[in-house]
Amino acid sequence: MHRFQTTAVHAGREDFGDLCVHAPPLDLSTTYPIADLDVGSASFDALVGGHASAANPIYARLHNPTVARAENAIAALEGTQACVAYASGMAAMTAVLLDRAQHGKHVLVVRPLYGTADHLLATGMCGLEAEFVKAEDIASRLRADTALVVIETPANPTLNLVDIRAVVAAAGSVPVLVDSTFATPVLQRPAELGAAYVLHSATKFLGGHGDVIAGVVCCDETRAAPLRTVRAATGALLHPLAAYLLHRGLPTLKLRVEAAQANAQVLAQRLSEHPAVSKVFYPGLPGAHGAHLVGTQMRGPGCLMAFELRGGHDAAAKVMASVKVMTAAVSLGSVDSLIQHPAGLTHRMVDEQVKAATGITAGLLRLSVGIEDVEDLWDDLAQAMAASGG
Ligand SMILES: *Cc1c(COP(=O)(O)O)cnc(C)c1O
Repeated sequence: MHRFQTTAVHAGREDFGDLCVHAPPLDLSTTYPIADLDVGSASFDALVGGHASAANPIYARLHNPTVARAENAIAALEGTQACVAYASGMAAMTAVLLDRAQHGKHVLVVRPLYGTADHLLATGMCGLEAEFVKAEDIASRLRADTALVVIETPANPTLNLVDIRAVVAAAGSVPVLVDSTFATPVLQRPAELGAAYVLHSATKFLGGHGDVIAGVVCCDETRAAPLRTVRAATGALLHPLAAYLLHRGLPTLKLRVEAAQANAQVLAQRLSEHPAVSKVFYPGLPGAHGAHLVGTQMRGPGCLMAFELRGGHDAAAKVMASVKVMTAAVSLGSVDSLIQHPAGLTHRMVDEQVKAATGITAGLLRLSVGIEDVEDLWDDLAQAMAASGG
């Protein structure tokens, strides 16, 4: 076992010596020649049954070697036996829900969470009945048919931190899914704290360059096998080119996260002192929700923050229209800084009362800090806030 950064550079490259290559081969085959029918049949059974690989890949919906390399690399970074990759973070979440729906109909969910994840769960479209609870109420709300507990930490968009260890203890034998997208394995490894499923929208930091839509679930092999079966049946595949790009981003993951986090700490501090800003949500500031988990559960406060403008919706819209270095756009975790308005965009589908209760106000902006020079980022924010009348 190597240290994190060495693993980030070398994982998923174990077969390169045998293949005599130095960069990951990009395999775009949709089908594979079958030299021996018996081997083909056995491979088909193995892959449909959820095995990670077989003697013959058979068909690209069942297996792809480029995707498998990226999966192996991410599993190594999360410290799990397996990783199953999907077409997007939402496809990854859907696969877990479809699988768990076969074990029971009830799921406990702690809000706030990613807007579309909230929508997917609240509508029950995967056949599960979601009950939204506070983390401290999980133990008392468990039912005989509770199949899953879902949390997101840090949570979107207010950066609430949820105590993973406490949730795992409260859930007992019910598996806990942690959406760890905002943290990345650089800052938090939920499986080490007992989480059964670690989910990432790999579209964000893991890909890191704003050019890949992908999702992954990291878990042990017993839980991974049915997730591969769901993937083979539903077809929510990660394309090999996307997997190639995802794998390519991993060697710099830690460098990117640490550089962006250092920038974020400076910006959060300065925003908290700015007269146009009424509140800053950032786990690295004193008094932040769950701040005691920084340094224990999380190695650092991360690269995301939200801040509320005194001028409300109009000031927020003006800041978005006025930034020049940052891009006014949804998504996060890219090398460049992105700023967006949760109430008007990512969390639009969330019920109004839930928005109010979880702090998603009209003046709230979420900032995903990139790796630009922090002084240019601050100058940009300061001029945009001045333009907004702040
Ligand atoms: C983006 C995101 C998702 C959804 O991922 P997609 O790749 O867009 O499908 C889920 N959870 C969190 C925390 C996210 O930021």
